[in-house]
Amino acid sequence: MRKRRVILLGATGSIGTSAIKVAESMPDRMEIVGMAAHRSAQKLADAANRSRPEAVCLVDPASLSELRFALKYCPRILTGDDGLIELSTMSGADLVLVAIVGTAGLRPVLAAIERGKDLAIASKEILVMAGEIVMASARKNNVAILPVDSEHNAIFQCLDGKRVEEVQNLILTASGGPFRELSTEQIEHASKSDALRHPTWKMGQKITIDSATLFNKGLEMIEARWLFNVPINRVQVVIHPQSIIHSLVEFVDGSILAQLSRSDMCFPIQYAITWPDRVATSLRPLRLADIGKLEFEEPRYDAFPALDLARKAGEFGGLLPAVLNAANEVAVQAFLDDRIPFGEISRLVRNAMGRQTNLASPTLDDILRADNEAREFVRSALF
Ligand code: NAD
Ligand code: MG
Repeated sequence: MRKRRVILLGATGSIGTSAIKVAESMPDRMEIVGMAAHRSAQKLADAANRSRPEAVCLVDPASLSELRFALKYCPRILTGDDGLIELSTMSGADLVLVAIVGTAGLRPVLAAIERGKDLAIASKEILVMAGEIVMASARKNNVAILPVDSEHNAIFQCLDGKRVEEVQNLILTASGGPFRELSTEQIEHASKSDALRHPTWKMGQKITIDSATLFNKGLEMIEARWLFNVPINRVQVVIHPQSIIHSLVEFVDGSILAQLSRSDMCFPIQYAITWPDRVATSLRPLRLADIGKLEFEEPRYDAFPALDLARKAGEFGGLLPAVLNAANEVAVQAFLDDRIPFGEISRLVRNAMGRQTNLASPTLDDILRADNEAREFVRSALF
């Protein structure tokens, strides 16, 4: 039995909070030895006071004194982007759980891999932006990349070490989000409060908006392509409103395996930490008779352009996935700031992709530049 010594990036978020709960539920399997957050000093201090990691990092230095004041013990305190990398490569830790929203975790992830640390990744944006580079570095350094995103964790469980040649299709389930049944016209002008009301999951704001546009599923298609080394034309999406089946694998012999559990991120986080073992949990079990029925339907591709845009980005590869991701991130923030209507998010992403000259095998610098330009393009299109 191995105990994981974990660095938790994004400790104050929705996934971070669930990860702390998982650690408390199995202290013999998981110890949080480092924690990082962006700028919420009080929340980071509260989390650290509970878990007592050896080191904490508040990336934005503005509230460092507030953090020092609120801490009830004396961990090593780091700050800035360099501090985040120092935390992620800390000796004595063997796994980094990345739950930072967006792509700020990319450099820490690459640095941690080079130090031989395993990665449990919730931050799908990193794999969309630079999946090829992350996975190549992981292979070279012989470290495990363990998916935390519930769909990919489900696929990881169903695959259970099977070879890619045995896989016919990966089938990602999607709840369909709050606008599954709305008309295209209603979706165009959907309000922020409606978009933030997810039917089955409670999550951070950015991924909740991504779940309403279905960009979340689009990002997950590209995430799956890299995590499991399967071409994107073998990554399918099916709408499953109950969010009980978290995804499925169809094998070449016609069998389909699925993974089921209640929609609580503690389940995939726990498996990523205890893998390859399974460990008893005190989480409420799933009772199929209480669920009654499980439904499936085709996605409405016309009403949710995100899926086709992501498929295109996944097929063309190169810089397009990074551009899609970056443009989406800025557009989602503009929607949250009441600057654009809901329907504008996917139009901005399409326009950003349309103006990008693609490159076959981009370097990290190429990707960072394209990411930056796509963000600038969307910002300038807002005025
Ligand atoms: P959240 O908004 O609740 O939390 C985000 C966390 O990231 C916070 O701790 C914040 O301090 C930290 N952060 C933000 N910017 C940072 C920066 N520049 N440097 C360091 N830390 C920074 O988000 P969430 O819902 O927990 O999602 C986190 C990631 O996990 C996202 O990539 C999301 O797509 C993915 N994910 C989330 C869920 C879920 O159920 N919430 C499920 C699957 C995947
Ligand atoms: Mg998911």
